Amino acid sequence: MSYSVAPEQARELLEQELGGSYPDARGRYGPFGGRFVPETLVPALNRLDAGVSRYLHDAEFQAEYVAELKTFVGRPTALTHAYTLSKRWGADVWLKREDLAHTGAHKINNAIGQALLAKRLGAKRIVAETGAGQHGVATAAACARLGMPCTVYMGAVDTERQAPNVGRMRLLGATVVPVTSGDQTLRAAIDEALRDWVSDPEGTYYLLGSAVGPHPYPYLVRELQSVIGREARQQMLEQAGGLPDVAVACVGGGSNAIGMFHPFIKDPSVALLGIEAGGRGPGLGDNSATLTYGRPGVLQGCYTLVLQDGDGQVQETHSVSAGLDYSGVGPEHSLLMTAGRVRYEQATDDEALDALSECCLAEGILPAIETAHAFAGARRWARVNPGKRILIALSGRGDKDMPTLQKTLLKGML
Ligand SMILES: *Cc1c(COP(=O)(O)O)cnc(C)c1O
Repeated sequence: MSYSVAPEQARELLEQELGGSYPDARGRYGPFGGRFVPETLVPALNRLDAGVSRYLHDAEFQAEYVAELKTFVGRPTALTHAYTLSKRWGADVWLKREDLAHTGAHKINNAIGQALLAKRLGAKRIVAETGAGQHGVATAAACARLGMPCTVYMGAVDTERQAPNVGRMRLLGATVVPVTSGDQTLRAAIDEALRDWVSDPEGTYYLLGSAVGPHPYPYLVRELQSVIGREARQQMLEQAGGLPDVAVACVGGGSNAIGMFHPFIKDPSVALLGIEAGGRGPGLGDNSATLTYGRPGVLQGCYTLVLQDGDGQVQETHSVSAGLDYSGVGPEHSLLMTAGRVRYEQATDDEALDALSECCLAEGILPAIETAHAFAGARRWARVNPGKRILIALSGRGDKDMPTLQKTLLKGML
């Protein structure tokens, strides 16, 4: 392995976690996580941290959150038996349908939770970043519902390949700001959102969209997204007659994956498999497979695995899916990989598109291209582990990907 954390140390830390003690008070996941930010951000993060401690598990806040999940988001989302894929793969395949959540992906679980928190903290306006646009749409929807103005920063490259989502955000009342600096994708958008937040840390709330960034965001997002795994665990017991042998999720920043994995971490019989974007291949800059090729470093306030060159320059990334196109990954995933609790593999652009097509034809479901990476990984796992029960996090629907699909799978069909 190309990084320097001793697996022994990581395993020990994970055992402590099974006792319920991570992240620690400084937001550390073993050696990962923490808070590496300019002084100007510290008071804002402290205030957020205090707010999270005070409200997140408070009965009144939880009641309000659960009511929104039920009546606005449409939870619990279905667990679907994929019987045609099961037959084709020689497995028993189950799909946790976050594509059926309001606005079409898991992002809304986090957005509505943080927007409620922002209100409690007295914020007057929300800023957010978005990659695929799904987090922007979810945030715009949550802000419209709660009556808060919302500004969304989005890399200029992403505004083009996710044009339908830009329109949706604007219809929902958000101001969308295309970011032309840096890599012009998610990383640059996060930088801009942080800059905006620093200029008014009291009145503005930064609604971060994945399990990344400085403490307490990775913890906050995990807690809000864990509803995915909690529901799926219960539904597997009721509908499939037992726990899955493996749970599979795609990994960009890692929020749908940690939401799915976290409630299964203490189940030793459940293997956990995260699938990153293998892009065009293993070359530097050709993929977004951070856990596979990254080394420890600081990115956007957090010590985690980062795609970087020999001089520590953060690498630009490539993936056919905007939502996976990020050079960092949540610190908890860095720990879970180092400790050997979760296995991370990758699927290339072509493998993902092929799996997307198979899911459409076999199950009548058009998944997001991000999600299709999980399908490609699950299909490969099924080949080596025949006859097993597989749970896939279907993180979102693919309608937003039509511009990309027109240029790839549909090319020549028109
Ligand atoms: C944003 C997004 C992802 C990737 O983000 P994570 O934080 O890794 O979950 C995956 N799937 C869909 C549909 C998304 O919108």
